Formats: sequence, C-alpha cells, structure tokens
Amino acid sequence: MIRISSYAEFDKYHAYDGDDLGATYYADRTVFKTWSPYASGVYLNLYLDGEGANLIETVPMELMSHGVWVVELLHRAEDIFYTYTFEYDNKTRFETIDIYAHACGVNGQRGYLMDLSHTDPIGWEETPRPVCQSPCDAVVYECHVRDFSIDPSSGAELQDRGRFTAFTKEGTRYHSITTGLDHLKELGITHVQLLPVFDYATVDESKPYKAQYNWGYDPLNYNCLEGSYSTDPYDPKKRIREFKELVQTLHKNGIGVIMDVVYNHTYFTEESAFHKSFPYYYHRLNRDGRFSNGSGCGNETASEHKMFRKYMIDSLKFLAEEYKLDGFRFDLMGLHDIETVNLIRDELNKFDPPLLMYGEGWTGGESPVPSDKLAYKWNSYSFGRVGLFNDNIRDAIKGGTFNPYDIGYISGNRYAWAVLKRGLVGSVEHWQLNNAQEACWAFEPTQAVNYCEAHDNHTLWDKLSICAKHFSREERVKMDKLAAALFMLSQGMPFLQLGQDFLRSKPRVPKAGEPVNEVTRVDHNSYNAPDSTNSVKWNEKLENIDVFRYYKALIRLRRNNRLFRLRTKEEIGRYMRFLDTGDPNFIAFKLEDDTDCLICVFNPYHEERHFLLPEGRFYIRLNEQGRMNKFPIGGDTVIPPVSAMVFKRIKKQAEAK
Ligand code: CA
Repeated sequence: MIRISSYAEFDKYHAYDGDDLGATYYADRTVFKTWSPYASGVYLNLYLDGEGANLIETVPMELMSHGVWVVELLHRAEDIFYTYTFEYDNKTRFETIDIYAHACGVNGQRGYLMDLSHTDPIGWEETPRPVCQSPCDAVVYECHVRDFSIDPSSGAELQDRGRFTAFTKEGTRYHSITTGLDHLKELGITHVQLLPVFDYATVDESKPYKAQYNWGYDPLNYNCLEGSYSTDPYDPKKRIREFKELVQTLHKNGIGVIMDVVYNHTYFTEESAFHKSFPYYYHRLNRDGRFSNGSGCGNETASEHKMFRKYMIDSLKFLAEEYKLDGFRFDLMGLHDIETVNLIRDELNKFDPPLLMYGEGWTGGESPVPSDKLAYKWNSYSFGRVGLFNDNIRDAIKGGTFNPYDIGYISGNRYAWAVLKRGLVGSVEHWQLNNAQEACWAFEPTQAVNYCEAHDNHTLWDKLSICAKHFSREERVKMDKLAAALFMLSQGMPFLQLGQDFLRSKPRVPKAGEPVNEVTRVDHNSYNAPDSTNSVKWNEKLENIDVFRYYKALIRLRRNNRLFRLRTKEEIGRYMRFLDTGDPNFIAFKLEDDTDCLICVFNPYHEERHFLLPEGRFYIRLNEQGRMNKFPIGGDTVIPPVSAMVFKRIKKQAEAK
C-alpha cells in the first residue's frame, strides 16, 4: 500500500471538488461516484437485502480524473442495497458501505438506494423551522432518544418507547404530570439537542428486545440514521420517515432540533468504511505511521485533509437540508482544525436564520496536529462565531468534575466567585472585571454555552449528593435551584440536560467487592450503562415538581426579558453592572436599558442576607420558589438562604403616559 508523505501536496493534485460523490439519480439513469486515487480497481455490488447472501450483480467502475471511480446504470436504481469493493495492488480487496450512503439496511452494512423525498411526512415542505435569531435566544435541552421514553413512567405506548416516534405523541402523562413531548412544551425550552442519532455501531439493531444501550459516540455511518430508534430497523425508509416526523412535530411546537455530530473519530479504524475506501487517508497518523488517538477512542479523523474536510461539509449540508435541522453540536471539536470549523460556520450561515453551531473545545487525548491549529477553547478568538461549552462556569457553579468531592459556589466554595462573575457576563471582557482572567475567553456572548449538567460526568443532583452529602436534602435542593438560576441568568446560551429540571440521578449498583458509598452508588460515565441508570424516571418529576416549576419559571423569565439575552459584549458593557454588596460571594448585578431594570442577587450562604435595592420601586420578579409578587417594595430586602432573587423596577406612571 502506498503511504502519503505530504497530505497537503497530495491534496493539491488528487482532491476532488465535485458535489456528486455517492449515488445520484438522473431522469433515466443512476450514477455512482467514489473517490479512491490509489485503488487498482473498484466495483459496485448490488444486493436485494441489507444483509445476507443475495447479491444481484457486481459491476466494475471506471477511473476518471482526480481519483474518482464512476459507473452508470441505465435506469433509476431504486429500493435495492449496494456496497463498493475497493481493490489495492491488484490483490487486497475490501468490501464496504459507501461513506456517502444516505440510507442503509440493518446495522449499517449496506447502503440503500431510494428517492429520499418519498420519506417526507405530509406537510413536510410546509412546516418551517422555528425562528431563532441568536444563540442567546435559545434554551437547549439535551436528550438521549432512548432515555426520553424507555421507562414505563413515560406513559409512552410500548411500540414508541425508546424510539423516535415517542417524540411525536401528545398527551402522555405520569399520573397528573406531563411527560414526553408535552413536558418539552411545558418546560419552555427552545431546542432539543439529541445525543447521536446518526448510525452508530455498538447497539445490535437486529436484536430490539435485547438489553442494549449506548450514548452513540461510536460512529458507523454519518449520513444514515440509527436503526435501533426506528420501529423497523430492517426497513431503511422507516427510520428516515420517523425521524422526519420527530423534527416536524417539534417544529410545529416551536422547538428546534440540534444534532450531535461526532466527526472526530470513527468507531472502527482499519475496519471503518473510510479506511477501506482509501487506507491511511481519512485518519491522522503519528510520526511512526500508526493511528493517533486524540479522541481517546482509538483514532482521530483528519479534518485538515481536503477530502475529509469536504466530507464533513457535504455531510452537514445534507443532514441540515434533508432533515431541516436547526443546528449542530460538535463532539470533541478540539480535534477539528480551525480552518475547517470556520468553513463549516460559513456553510451553516447560509441558512436563514443561521443554524446553531457549538461544540466541545477540548479533545480526548493528544493529537499530532499543533495545538494552535485546532479548535481548542483557548484558541476561541480564532473561531469566534462558534459556540463552546463553558467548563469554567460549570465548575465554578458546582465544583470540578474530576474530583467528585470538589465543591463549587453553590456548595460552599468561597473562591469561585471571580470565575463565576465572568460567566455571568457571558465570558467576555467587562469593565468591572479584571480582564486578565483565564475565564475571559468568549469573543462574544453568543460563543458561551453555559451549563452545569450534560450527559458526561455526574448529574448535578448526584454531584451534590457526593460533595454536599452532609447537608440535608432540603439544603441540596436549594443549591440545585441556585445553580439553575446562575447558568440560566448568565449572558450567553443556556444548556441543560433532560431531567435536570427534576433532579435527575443516574443510580448504579456497585460491583461485587466495591465499597458501597455515595460515589459508587451513582454513575458519572454511563455511556453503556443499562436503562435503570440512564433512563429518565418521570415519577421523579412528580416527586420534585417544585424544582421543575422553578426551572420552568427561570426559562420563562429569561425568554421574556431581552436583558438576559444581550447579543454583544458592547451591550453587556453598557447594560450590565455589578452592584457593591461588600462581600464578593454575595453577588448582585443590575441589568438596565431605557425601558427596563432588573436586579439579580445570589446568596450562597446558609443564612439570609440583607440587600439594599437601588433607588426606585421594585417588585419580586422571581423568588426562591420561582414565583412573582407584584407588591411594590424598595430599600432593604431579605435574600433567603442559598437562593437567587430577581427584582424588576416598576415603571413610573408618568413615564408610561
Ligand atoms: Ca447502528
């Protein structure tokens, strides 16, 4: 096998820039194109089914310019399956699915040829994306498809549990409380971010009744959907139609859909479709010629190689257009080179309004690419239009994620306030803060994705059960609510996890021989843990309905007041100012423009604190229970222990006219 010494040189002569890789239908023919400059032969295999010995025929392909292999069938090849066989040095042969396949059979082994418009639900064309003008206007809710409805408490019908279809059903309940779709509407979030729904490897789709689980960060086919979320993984059309119905239903309810994409590595390495299509091109290699492992999952892809960069862009455009997606979340975005990330941003800006784009500004290991070329969070200014998960505010609020006993602002850390204040101003420069601080990393508030719980690490509630175990449950509930107020009222884009709004926990049974304690009883890395750990138990919403109502009130407060959603650092500098309380941990700030004035006060202490309101008459816009009280107040006020209070200035009658 020929190895490439300089990919940049190689790409100059061999990269292909056509937009017709994969299978393309014309009026009366089907054209297949695949790129593999060093193959000695490529063959198209047509099959009756997605698996098994049912080959119809094998057709040799012809090498055109730029390493593109082509074959033309003189009819519209529809409703059949296909693969390619790549031959190298006239002897080694690999059969694989087309990396450009848009649909596939069970377990993603063969591509499926079809006209995708046949999967459009009724009214698909007429259902627009909900409008979201700025990331700051979004409230993102991260959901795993299976977790959402697999538990009987979801109230979902048996055939919908754990599947796309559960998102399309109205009226599900657990006793008196809403679940599923109705819950999303009631909570008031603007976007659902789905953990991987592209075709991933580790769940055997042919065994729907076997106990299997995975988050899905094990990519098999980027342009195909995961079959285990379909009501019939053997029917390639079904998963496509059902996912479109999911998107359509959420769109009809004003909720956008964000897809979690994992282009940073492939589950298989030598056995991946990419490696078989062109060995040693799509993955990064170390100096010794072996695969590098910046993902921590066995390999990392090479976004700086032109044809993988093109693949990512083509794939994202296809997914965004075909499924009318509203945005993308990039897993381990720190592994992608900055140039690629900016090119993707340009493409996603062509949608109206632009699609959301954010990701993790870190990696899972060391990459051979120089760190100043990669989309690490510390290079954030070089890709300022792309959002980044704010681990600074996350850890300042609840404590470091790697030491479960580490405490944060909510749980008694009296040194977290400086980083926290930076988070409150959207992680941008602010005239009242020392701008040399590490946490001042955002180019604009639109870049800051503020959160304190995601699928990774402990849930907020589990973290509190460890690091604040000596406090009563009641005290810990207060800490949880204070955490919610902090990230939800920060400038930037708030992000929370399914069930965080009702104290989601990921219970775990300690293994034999393990000590049984607060750490071993919960799971901080549940990627393949059973449903008993991962699923959302909707009875917990009923049990913690006060917490749910508080989160709901916070979301409403944010969405109803523009001052919490300032879009530029210039506006933040102008409208937001910290108030002097005489104690850096007793944080208070004022948001004021020509029409409104809001005061937010955060008390992390276990006793009440007095706060002097600025001049004017105010009312309580949000108290520690999430309620409003229109009674006019002014001057000295009491902030209850471990709580946030929001006051709003009453407009003078004279001004109102
Ligand atoms: Ca799969």
